[in-house]
Amino acid sequence: MMDAVQKALSRYWGYSSFLPLQQEAMECLLGGRDSVVVLPTGGGKSLCFQAPAVTLPGTAVVVSPLIALMKDQVDGLIQCGVPAARLDSTQSPQEHQSVLTDLKTNRLKLLYLSPERLLSNGFPELLANIRISFFAIDEAHCVSMWGHDFRPEYRRLGQLKRLFPHIPIAAYTATATEHVRNDIVEQLGLQNARLLIGSFDRSNLVYKVQPRSQIIRQVGEVLERHKDESGVIYCLRRRDVDELCVQLNARGCRAAPYHAGMADEDRKINQERFITEKVHIIVATIAFGMGIDKSNVRFVIHTGMPKSLEHYQQESGRAGRDGLEAECCLFYGGGDYGLWQFLMRDLPDEAAKIAALKLSEMYNYCTGVQCRHRAILNYFGQSLDKDNCGACDVCLGELETVDDSLVVAQKILSCIVRLEQQFGVGYTTRVLLGSKDQRILESGHDTLSTYGLLSDHSRQAVRGWIEQLVGQGCIEKVGQYGVLTVTPKGWAVLRGRHTPHLFKPAEKPVNISRVAADSWRAVDRGLFEALRQLRTRIAAENRVPAYLVFGDATLRDLARQRPSKPEILLRIKGVGEKKCSQYGAEVLATIRDYCRAQGQEMDIHGPAVLACPPENRSAARQTAFQLFAQKRPLKEVAQSVCRAESTTVQYLVEYIAYERIVTPQPWVDEPTFARVAQAARNCDLSKIKPVFERLNGQISYDAVRICLACLRNR
Ligand code: ADP
Ligand code: ZN
Repeated sequence: MMDAVQKALSRYWGYSSFLPLQQEAMECLLGGRDSVVVLPTGGGKSLCFQAPAVTLPGTAVVVSPLIALMKDQVDGLIQCGVPAARLDSTQSPQEHQSVLTDLKTNRLKLLYLSPERLLSNGFPELLANIRISFFAIDEAHCVSMWGHDFRPEYRRLGQLKRLFPHIPIAAYTATATEHVRNDIVEQLGLQNARLLIGSFDRSNLVYKVQPRSQIIRQVGEVLERHKDESGVIYCLRRRDVDELCVQLNARGCRAAPYHAGMADEDRKINQERFITEKVHIIVATIAFGMGIDKSNVRFVIHTGMPKSLEHYQQESGRAGRDGLEAECCLFYGGGDYGLWQFLMRDLPDEAAKIAALKLSEMYNYCTGVQCRHRAILNYFGQSLDKDNCGACDVCLGELETVDDSLVVAQKILSCIVRLEQQFGVGYTTRVLLGSKDQRILESGHDTLSTYGLLSDHSRQAVRGWIEQLVGQGCIEKVGQYGVLTVTPKGWAVLRGRHTPHLFKPAEKPVNISRVAADSWRAVDRGLFEALRQLRTRIAAENRVPAYLVFGDATLRDLARQRPSKPEILLRIKGVGEKKCSQYGAEVLATIRDYCRAQGQEMDIHGPAVLACPPENRSAARQTAFQLFAQKRPLKEVAQSVCRAESTTVQYLVEYIAYERIVTPQPWVDEPTFARVAQAARNCDLSKIKPVFERLNGQISYDAVRICLACLRNR
């Protein structure tokens, strides 16, 4: 059975391997067992039921809470050549009838519908006469009041098990808490369900946090790094959405707004423009997001602090669903804390307590100096299995610790004491900066010994430090106005018994994350652009979102391997038979024309592609091959052929593939090779990154790459 699934995976989706837990999740369905699958956004949940649905006899019934989600998935399936349909209220009676006919004649592999419709009058009876392979419940946390998105109609799904006791049910969600999981099992009446819980680390997301100062400039810097790429900017309030949109458009960035205050129709139009890439940026309140499965969102910016890490994870998680690198930047201000407190003021006691706790954890995340990946994982009860994530501002060294943290902290704390713990952040900052503010002069605070003590620092820096001291528990903000008071820990700092860690943004340029470096490795950017334009055109002609035609990962692979023929095109991840026959000719022509014009070679890179025969090699490559045959060291070969070392490693990898070499000496020593071989067990040998990561970066990327090239020949 699993073989059939593998075949379907390659034929319809163009994938050759599974993401973590996908195989286990599929085995449940093939074996007829109930299951609850918890995987993060982008973890590949839909494939867990789509691939078995294709191979099992009958039709799989998929329950989904939103029309947009159903439409996206059905469109995607049809693009891959899988017979799928949905039933929803936007369809005409004719469309409706035709879906029902297809269903009754067993022509559908998947049918998507809402819980209301599934349990509506007569529908279960209709299904009773049809062969159903299984029920898949998407966004299953909607059954739970403990989730963030309870839907009463999901509760009724409990009837399914009673109506169809022999049909397996699989529930899928990205919401991890134990409460929710238990609720899903109970509410759906699952029997002996297998629980599959994935890691919640989104290693391809690069998290960054900064105090907010001039937000438009800060946002501008992020956008600078993502020209022409899709992204979402979240604001706390509608007003902020509108303002930011105006400002961005005035600067020539095309951005569309989205918030609950807009007319339904306008919102829908903007969402559609974003999905079809007519605009790249959407500026939104949290009203935006549910039902957006756009896989190639490359950045998510928050211009204010969300009210919990759950919210942050969910919103920022909309970036990088395709597994490629994406950036999540959070700009926070002390005012956000107060705003949320204000909005939460009317909550009943118990709820208020929980909300306040979540808020303060969120705030600690912002002001903390711990690895962001670790902080988020710890919050969700998991741990990070590496020391340096290589994908957050802390680990990338973008924050610099202030040398004299203790002295700076003491200056701030003593100023608060001198102000008799009566003032908030803004006022205290101004006193420390030595401001000539009327109010300060009138109160005589310009005569305090702490007046102007930090005048050689920026206002943003001083504010940031105060917030950090709050975050680290040295200062507390009291009451409606957030009056600063010194905590016992703060007094310990004043007495020199405890040193807090204060940091400031580093002045060096932004580091490129390892994830980004890896996923762009050997990609011809010019060709990537050309293919992206082709994709946009195809998408418009077929009236589907671009990412459903080909994902970004597929475009990069194409621009890396540059296939010349359909057989080789089919080996690219994300190109199945249907897409190959439908778009293959255009894709191959684009690649051929580009490579001809640029003098780029084709059919190189990638282990799946055979190394090129001698007659197709460039002069540099030929010389390199000769030198490798003499076992010359890499550096020497690089110099001899006047190529960068990275290119030379590429030549070596091709040489190894071509000559079918199985041990990497003299380029990598035996013990290193043994370690890589060990780490690569049960791994997909065509993927370098997972093995490199398993080794915690202790062995260089190139060495791992060379070793894997040898292992592939065994
Ligand atoms: P989720 O629903 O868990 O957020 P999706 O089902 O949308 O995740 O999948 C996320 C991305 O991963 C999609 O672009 C999908 O095509 C891709 N994907 C899923 N399974 C695989 C696989 N086995 N190999 C490669 N890519 C995959
Ligand atoms: Zn980190």
